[in-house]
Amino acid sequence: MTARDTDLTAAIARVVEARRGETLRLLQDFVRVPCVTGDEGAVQEVVAAAFAESRLAVERVSATPEGIAPYHDHVGEETRFANRPNIVGIRRGAGGGRSILLNGHVDTVEVGDPATWTRDPLGGEIVGDRLYGRGACDMKGGIVSFIAALETLDALGIRLRGDVTVAATVGEEDGGVGALAVILAGYRADAVLITEPTRLALVPAQGGSLVFRLTVPGRAAHAAVRDEGVSALEAFLPIFEDLRALERDRNATLDHPLYAAIANKVPINIGVVRAGNWASTVPESLVAEGRIGLIPGEEVAPFRAFIEERIFGVAAQNRWLVENPPTLEWFGGQFAPAEVPADAPICRAVMAAHERVTGAPPTVAGVPYGADMRLFIRLGEMPCVMYGAGDVNHAHRADEHISVPELLTATRTIAHLLIDWCGVAE
Ligand SMILES: [Zn+2]
Repeated sequence: MTARDTDLTAAIARVVEARRGETLRLLQDFVRVPCVTGDEGAVQEVVAAAFAESRLAVERVSATPEGIAPYHDHVGEETRFANRPNIVGIRRGAGGGRSILLNGHVDTVEVGDPATWTRDPLGGEIVGDRLYGRGACDMKGGIVSFIAALETLDALGIRLRGDVTVAATVGEEDGGVGALAVILAGYRADAVLITEPTRLALVPAQGGSLVFRLTVPGRAAHAAVRDEGVSALEAFLPIFEDLRALERDRNATLDHPLYAAIANKVPINIGVVRAGNWASTVPESLVAEGRIGLIPGEEVAPFRAFIEERIFGVAAQNRWLVENPPTLEWFGGQFAPAEVPADAPICRAVMAAHERVTGAPPTVAGVPYGADMRLFIRLGEMPCVMYGAGDVNHAHRADEHISVPELLTATRTIAHLLIDWCGVAE
């Protein structure tokens, strides 16, 4: 690093620290407006005001039923469209630099039972190094980190060459209708950074997930003569066992360097089982709903065909099921996995920025869950990675919180990334 670089790194650190109070106040403002998926209108007014305050040109983009209809396979079915704007902010650069799109979702999961929280779920309380509240970590903190990075550059009088677009999107927890709407509206950049909580790891790969419903027929009979009937539950059990075996096999054989450290990289979960209607009746049908994980490199259509073959292969061992075959439906979002090469320019840029701020390169890892990243890569055809403050293990549960030092480190990294990626105007 040259002396000038060192000065810049120190100056960014100084400004981010000096702006700490404003940054945390903004996150508190965001956390105090509830915005469970489907009900994001109120928080988006606060976000739009914050973008405008940061001298971004604010645009609103809403999904429409007609626009989304061809993409149900990618984002699932949407039931609500009214008052769910995505807020896009644009800062034109001086020209001649690479552009970037910084994205975060504003929607959160429900608070859950407030009695299980030791802090006010919508309070934004700061205790020690933590800021508490639903969405603090996943991922209002991430949105605040890129706003604070832009503010930091402003405070230092740094004007960028490339365009910066920021997007606060809705509906991520439910499939990503907001990110899709932004992509369909034509917003593009040379790279996309999503500031999901990755604990400051660079995430260039995300898993996929497929949701299915299996209906297994049986034949009802009075329990007193149960052998006259066929239990749909008992017919299902070998299929369930085989799915467990499949999960074990896949974990043992699938090979992806970014997933090597994850014990269960492709979980198969049976989340719903409904069978029978009365304690003294042999269950005449069973419905099981589950979710199967994929890693990058696997494609949805052939994988679905493979799973069908596997389930019907087990059913073929059961005479009843041969004559009364189960049915398998794929419903809801069918989320494809996605990745960008670990040596892609945006990966190298994020790694370099992180290293300048922290003195060490970041962890680089894949994640087993799906996020909006896949939409930017697969539908928007833009390289997209995730990097942000917060630990996903603290999301979606009581006492959700974000580490304040991590939030400020992410802010510094993003400020450096913007300088390196977009270039600085003279
Ligand atoms: Zn998230």
